[in-house]
Amino acid sequence: MKKINLFSLLLLSLLLTACFTRRAMEPAPEAETFPPTLILVSFDGCRYDYPEHAHTPALDAIAREGVKAEGLKTAFPSKTFPNHLTLVTGLYPGHHGILANTMYDAEHDRWYRLSNGAVADASWYRGEPIWVTAEKQGVKTATYFWPGSEAPIQGVRPTYWEAYDHHRPFAERVEQVLSWLDLPKGERPQFITLYFHEPDETGHQYGPLSPEALSALEEVDVQLEALLAGLKERGLEEKVNLMVVSDHGMTSTSRDSVIFLDDYINLDDVMVVDWSPLLALRPKEGKEEEVWQALKNAHPRMQVYRKDELPQHWHYEKSDPLVQPILALADEHWSITTHAYFDSHPHKPSPGAHGYDPAYSNMNAIFYARGPAFKRGYEAPLIENIHLYALMCHLLNIEPTEQDGKLDAVKDLLR
Ligand SMILES: [Zn+2]
Repeated sequence: MKKINLFSLLLLSLLLTACFTRRAMEPAPEAETFPPTLILVSFDGCRYDYPEHAHTPALDAIAREGVKAEGLKTAFPSKTFPNHLTLVTGLYPGHHGILANTMYDAEHDRWYRLSNGAVADASWYRGEPIWVTAEKQGVKTATYFWPGSEAPIQGVRPTYWEAYDHHRPFAERVEQVLSWLDLPKGERPQFITLYFHEPDETGHQYGPLSPEALSALEEVDVQLEALLAGLKERGLEEKVNLMVVSDHGMTSTSRDSVIFLDDYINLDDVMVVDWSPLLALRPKEGKEEEVWQALKNAHPRMQVYRKDELPQHWHYEKSDPLVQPILALADEHWSITTHAYFDSHPHKPSPGAHGYDPAYSNMNAIFYARGPAFKRGYEAPLIENIHLYALMCHLLNIEPTEQDGKLDAVKDLLR
């Protein structure tokens, strides 16, 4: 018995020594006061290969000092709102509820459009964005624009957020993000988003890899440079993690590759919910079979589906009232329209488009990251964007909610 007591005493003293030693090795108090912080930047519509063709010193610096992926694989459909929501929820669009930029809910006879205020209506959003996950766990967040951030999802909004204003100067957005980092502990957000609508807008207007689209990318890269410089000035380069992503790529389209819907069906027989490249149709009562028969083999560059036989990798559920009875997807470079629209819009379709099957590499987006959590000078293979929610929860040290992604799929990016 005595032997055991002596042994216990020895063990206790060893443990105490270990405790004191660990305390002595703890980081300096200054470093301790800075909790895990992550900035998520989106360059809308920046195709994976744009930076190779442009002068982008800020992205290049991140690739050198951090991680650059071969590309970021988009979720279906490769559109803006569906993918921005996928990035922050880890759910496929078919699961987070924003299946398209334009949707019709037949059950409630209502529309989701980017222009009708629906974006701020929480009842459309089925997923939990990371700012909600964080806020519920006592972690403050801020969004300088992000699709979905204007809606009080689950009754929760980021602590700091901005109503979308397309014309807000880019530099002002960067300054505000840096000002948030200057807030005192307790008020300072640990998760921050920053959104730029370029090079998407110019890519649509002039086409992918056009000098105009590349110079639009260079313009947002200048903003990124300012953000990096701001972090450096504050001594936060090795304290704050930074991820730069885009939502989808861009491909060329032209007036020579057009599918005219009215060549095959009478437009009075359907409600067209969404146009191109993913056509969503609601045939009028009694017209469903007729429309289906007329469209199913109508054009070799357009794949037509009924909602109960959709490709599995779309992750659309047949029971979902937001999935219309007939969907048709154009092949890459092709557009779906009508004669009347085509004739009255001599510059449409515009030279650039997206929304196609994510299997086309031109739909791939960018992924760059740097900071204390990320490897240095690491070139990662193609990453799927559904995994980034899990990664971001890990970086913020918060518990993720249910999702389609997995941290394991992106663990190789981490130190
Ligand atoms: Zn976009």
